[in-house]
Amino acid sequence: MSKIIRRKTPSVSVGHVFLGSDYPVAVQAMTDTPTADVEATIEQTCELVSAGSELVRWTINDDAAALGAIEAINRLRSFGVRVPIVGDFHFNGHLILTKHPQLADLLDKYRINPGNVGGTNKRDDNFASIIRLAIRYKKAVRIGVNGGSLDPQILSQKMDVNIRSGKVQDVQEIMCDAVIESALESCAYALELGLPIEKLVLSAKLSVVQETIEVYERLAKMCEYVFHIGLTEAGAGISGIASSSAALAVLLQQGIGDTIRVSLTPEPGAARSREVEVCREILQSMGFRHFLPRVTSCPGCGRTKSIFFQELARDIKQYILLKMPEWKNKYPCVETLRVAVMGCVVNGPGESRHADIGISLPGSFEDPLAPVYVDGKKVVSLRGEGMKDQFVLILEEYIAKKFK
Ligand code: SF4
Repeated sequence: MSKIIRRKTPSVSVGHVFLGSDYPVAVQAMTDTPTADVEATIEQTCELVSAGSELVRWTINDDAAALGAIEAINRLRSFGVRVPIVGDFHFNGHLILTKHPQLADLLDKYRINPGNVGGTNKRDDNFASIIRLAIRYKKAVRIGVNGGSLDPQILSQKMDVNIRSGKVQDVQEIMCDAVIESALESCAYALELGLPIEKLVLSAKLSVVQETIEVYERLAKMCEYVFHIGLTEAGAGISGIASSSAALAVLLQQGIGDTIRVSLTPEPGAARSREVEVCREILQSMGFRHFLPRVTSCPGCGRTKSIFFQELARDIKQYILLKMPEWKNKYPCVETLRVAVMGCVVNGPGESRHADIGISLPGSFEDPLAPVYVDGKKVVSLRGEGMKDQFVLILEEYIAKKFK
């Protein structure tokens, strides 16, 4: 397997978390509670942290949200939750942060969107106010350019130049050019104001996979800033997961990206932490990080004669999830474990041998025996109703021995 070389970026500290090419790609998420609702914000933040979010962003859009954030951060810290909290500011961030110095000090990072920092005449002043506060309080800043809220001045200038040039440049191309220009100009201005590069993170997100990839690829050649990557407004459900995964995978494979977020529209009633699970699955499936033991299972086909195989694959995965908090404390590196649950003799023994521990169930017309493989060797064949419990027992014994 080819080794992926991460694009070299500086180390940026955000609270106790470090971002950059010397550190693992970090997972982040954002709450959707009104930040003024302290209880709800704390609860959802804890849910995201439990799911594995390493930074959490909150909307801070008015005084009530600012006061709520101050209380929520103090309470989180008082019960030992250290996750860095990022304040998300649009339009009035300069006013809120100036009016609430305690908030400016408590937050670990400010996220500002250069397209949304206030009226045209005041844009530079408002932007500069936030950067100066970040410098004063030694905070990291993410300059987050977004295709949906692009600096209108840059976009209209580019449109005018295009019209005058007589060349018919595609609107999407102009959009990508404008996103890049806004990102680079804003970062350069922040540095000029005195923000150290070790406090700067850049994101430049669009809602179309190919455009997002293009913009980050081009930016990667033009600057060395730490990148937060993701597809903005990815959508809901499977399509949001697939399109985010496609964009992130292409970039990560090229070593581009120091932190990621999957911006899913939550299904009604679904957990907000779904976006964290998807981030972790992407990083783990690409081999960048290990969070949980991997369960390899086949899709099943006409050779699987009952749903027992599907149930066993699901139950083993759920068992691992349930046990991980305990295993993580007891067994170092248990997250690197590979388990296989396979449907029949066609690929079952092969995949089971490649895993640390695997079971190959009997398909149609096979003897009702399920051989279990440990470290590539068949150790026992299970049969009958207690098969799952017996396999779990072998799994527990294996983990206790291998990861002690
Ligand atoms: S391993 Fe067997 S049951 Fe599973 S998909 Fe392949 S042929 Fe079908």
